[in-house]
Amino acid sequence: MPIKTDALIVGAGPCGLFQIFELGLLGVKADILDSLPTPGGQCTELYPDKPIYDIPAIPICSAQELIDNLLKQVEPFHPTFHLGEEVTGVKQLDGYFKVTTSNNKEFHAKTVFIAGGVGSFQPRRFRLEGIDALEGASVHYRVKEPELFAGKKIIICGGGDSALDWVMALADSAAELTLVHRRDEYRAAPATVATVKELEAAGKVRILEHAKASAYVADGTALKSVTISVKDVDDVTLDADHLLAFFGLAPKLGPIAEWGFEIAKKAIAVDTEKFETNIPGIFAVGDINSYPGKKKLILSGFHEAALAAFAAKAIIEPGKKVALQYTTTSPVMHKRLGVED
Ligand code: FAD
Repeated sequence: MPIKTDALIVGAGPCGLFQIFELGLLGVKADILDSLPTPGGQCTELYPDKPIYDIPAIPICSAQELIDNLLKQVEPFHPTFHLGEEVTGVKQLDGYFKVTTSNNKEFHAKTVFIAGGVGSFQPRRFRLEGIDALEGASVHYRVKEPELFAGKKIIICGGGDSALDWVMALADSAAELTLVHRRDEYRAAPATVATVKELEAAGKVRILEHAKASAYVADGTALKSVTISVKDVDDVTLDADHLLAFFGLAPKLGPIAEWGFEIAKKAIAVDTEKFETNIPGIFAVGDINSYPGKKKLILSGFHEAALAAFAAKAIIEPGKKVALQYTTTSPVMHKRLGVED
């Protein structure tokens, strides 16, 4: 059954989250989608602990604090979050937009807000010929079923928290476990690195540093062995049932570029009155849009979200005047915000 909604927001970064708020003030409830399992976009994925200094009236806050506060601010409007859902298609039908996702969810939306930032975040993958065919069977970039690895020969690549956390998690259950890292310094937390070195000393994991997976042998989608190139020494070939890699996430504009939008400077062209795309009823806010003078800043996206919300309200309730009201004095807005007059 398709999910029907007045407003569908694609992307739960700071601008998508503030879009919920601006729509909520005008009495429009939103559904919001993100391909990631948590909201926050670049703030959460790329720099959660870094301080931000240019959010109006907040002299300093960490990127994650900004996201936490935006989530709190939208609570009164009860948005529906659909996380871990990548939007793969947007199609204009008679009176609504059909939006489809990688998990085969279907939405019918009166208005759509593309707040996709720099694109959907995808795990960085191996660049080895043919290896994509093994993904999900014996090559993995995220772990959905840890029990799959019990009693198996496992190679984990990467030097960040995800890679080392999985080394710790699988050390007892794997038949053989090898960690392969390009350098000898780790991005993971020092305590995690220390625990993994203890596991190595206890013989539960083999660590290959200054090393990378350079070739593999497979039978269909079943991995057989992986060759590891190690700096200054001979290559090592290891029997392996599963190869796991945690090289971080990279943004990809991906399907958004194919939805029929006018593209300018690798972003979606919008007007500056409504921040509407060339498809009436579809708006684009935040880093994903382009217009003369655009600056990819969070505060720009906040302004864009406010104006796009007014334009969308006029589409959702045609013929009804959309008056500007102040949150300080408007009883209607107080009701929507759930505050006492
Ligand atoms: P994003 O934060 O990129 O979020 C977009 C979301 O959309 C992502 O979660 C993505 O997964 C999702 N998405 C994309 N495509 C799809 C799809 N097809 N289906 C489902 N989901 C999808 N800005 C400032 O104003 N001040 C600063 O101090 C500042 N510091 C920064 C520091 C760093 C290190 C970086 C990298 C950026 C900084 N920025 C700063 C820029 C700021 O983070 C961006 O302007 C802001 O994140 C843009 O927000 P957004 O909501 O448009 O997009």
